[in-house]
Amino acid sequence: MRVLVTGGAGYIGSHTLVELLSAGHEVCVIDNHANSSPEALVRVAGIAGRDLGSHVLDIRDTAALAAVAQGFRPDAVIHFAGLKAVGEGEENPLAYYEVNVGGTLSLLRAMEAAGCGRIIFSSSATVYGMPQYLPYDEDHPLAPVSVYGRTKRQAEDILRDWAAARGRAGAPAAAILLRYFNPTGAHESGRIGEDPRGEPQNLMPYLAQVATGRRAALRIFGDDWPTPDGTGIRDYIHVVDLARAHVAALERAAQATGTEVYNIGTGRGVSVREMLAAFSRAAGRALPHEIAPRRPGDLAESRAACARAAEVLGWRAEYGLTEMVESLWRWQSANPDGYGG
Ligand code: NAD
Ligand code: UDP
Repeated sequence: MRVLVTGGAGYIGSHTLVELLSAGHEVCVIDNHANSSPEALVRVAGIAGRDLGSHVLDIRDTAALAAVAQGFRPDAVIHFAGLKAVGEGEENPLAYYEVNVGGTLSLLRAMEAAGCGRIIFSSSATVYGMPQYLPYDEDHPLAPVSVYGRTKRQAEDILRDWAAARGRAGAPAAAILLRYFNPTGAHESGRIGEDPRGEPQNLMPYLAQVATGRRAALRIFGDDWPTPDGTGIRDYIHVVDLARAHVAALERAAQATGTEVYNIGTGRGVSVREMLAAFSRAAGRALPHEIAPRRPGDLAESRAACARAAEVLGWRAEYGLTEMVESLWRWQSANPDGYGG
């Protein structure tokens, strides 16, 4: 298929490009590099042994986006572009609504101009909010507790309304909403990986920078949570598994109409202490850490029910914790300054 990929130079986008190219798809990337390096695309082409088209532009520039889409004539769009730092969203909500919600509207306008009616959207487990039960299934009520989470829920609503209206108008569309849990790890080559700007806000990139010596110690945000070891539990998913879920979703989008929602995780919970131990093993030394107060807005536990993706998409995660931490360490130790090094 011909696939337009917004945000393709980012962490999840770059890994997905490798899988798309390896599966024989034609890709065209849109990215303004607000949070990525063009070097990621050079490395993707090197790993896949194939060229890819790319355009440096902002998804909010509807006219430019429509021109690219009309030229490329995509069969489907994978929409990664967005802002994702939870704390930054609280400080600057307008930027988050503009890019994540406004950018999605702009993209749909450009797709209409190019006659494209299939989209796969990067949503997040954060749309669920406080768990009413665990694991979260796709029917769990949506009550996001952050600006970032609300932008994702609003974008989901827009996509759902758009697909329904197109169906009623006799121009069926497919919107596949993938709710990612906690992506981590890197491509096995160690050539592409997560490259956050500034101080990492998430556990895995922070741990990786402690291991290279760039950060002094991991702060564990609370050891008094109602979990077996008192630290927060998350459902970490290898980024290559996540990338492959997009290839499966693309195949599904070719046949489906309307909106479909899938959790993308492993179903397995890992605590901060378990992750620290696993990453220390991969890095070959005990990593410094200290107990810090709980982080505002944090959840004790998050875990996915993944049966729907297995049944309908035929996708399930293949990699475990060892592959996640070893691949992350391979990337981080070979590229201590990310793409800037
Ligand atoms: P990322 O920041 O590495 O990638 C996003 C890409 O979008 C970057 O290359 C960035 O330059 C680009 N971008 C941002 N604003 C843009 C704009 N206005 N126009 C064009 N390009 C723009 O993030 P990621 O981790 O790869 O996440 C990809 C998507 O998945 C995001 O939508 C994110 O919200 C979602 N998501 C990520 C996680 C996670 O933990 N990484 C979890 C759930 C959902
Ligand atoms: N966490 C931590 N120290 C950090 C970053 C995160 O202890 O420097 C904990 C956090 O409290 C949570 C888990 O690690 O229990 C995962 O946090 P992350 O921000 O990576 O993911 P999210 O909370 O968004 O699912």
